[in-house]
Amino acid sequence: MTNTEYYRKKLRDRRAELETMIAKIEDLLDDPLPASFSEQAMELEDDEVLEIRGRHEHEELKAIDAALSRIDNDVFGTCISCQNGISDERLEAVPYATLCRNCMSVQI
Ligand SMILES: [Zn+2]
Repeated sequence: MTNTEYYRKKLRDRRAELETMIAKIEDLLDDPLPASFSEQAMELEDDEVLEIRGRHEHEELKAIDAALSRIDNDVFGTCISCQNGISDERLEAVPYATLCRNCMSVQI
């Protein structure tokens, strides 16, 4: 039996962390461009890196929201492909995992 309350808390904590990171990234992206051209070029490169990071964080946030709704629907910890349970070990590492280890390796 999966301890869903434990994972709910874990997912919520991670979600809060991500929201803080995303807010920081958006702050940095909002910075006005520096005046000189060489500095501008650097700033633009940084922005690209930040935007990519921001995208990753948004993806994870979506996965976490999906996991939280799976908890509400009582299907958390069940592989969406084979319907077997996902091991605690795997959920501990990736609490928003939707596939068990077997199905995961089939996908890759
Ligand atoms: Zn599976």
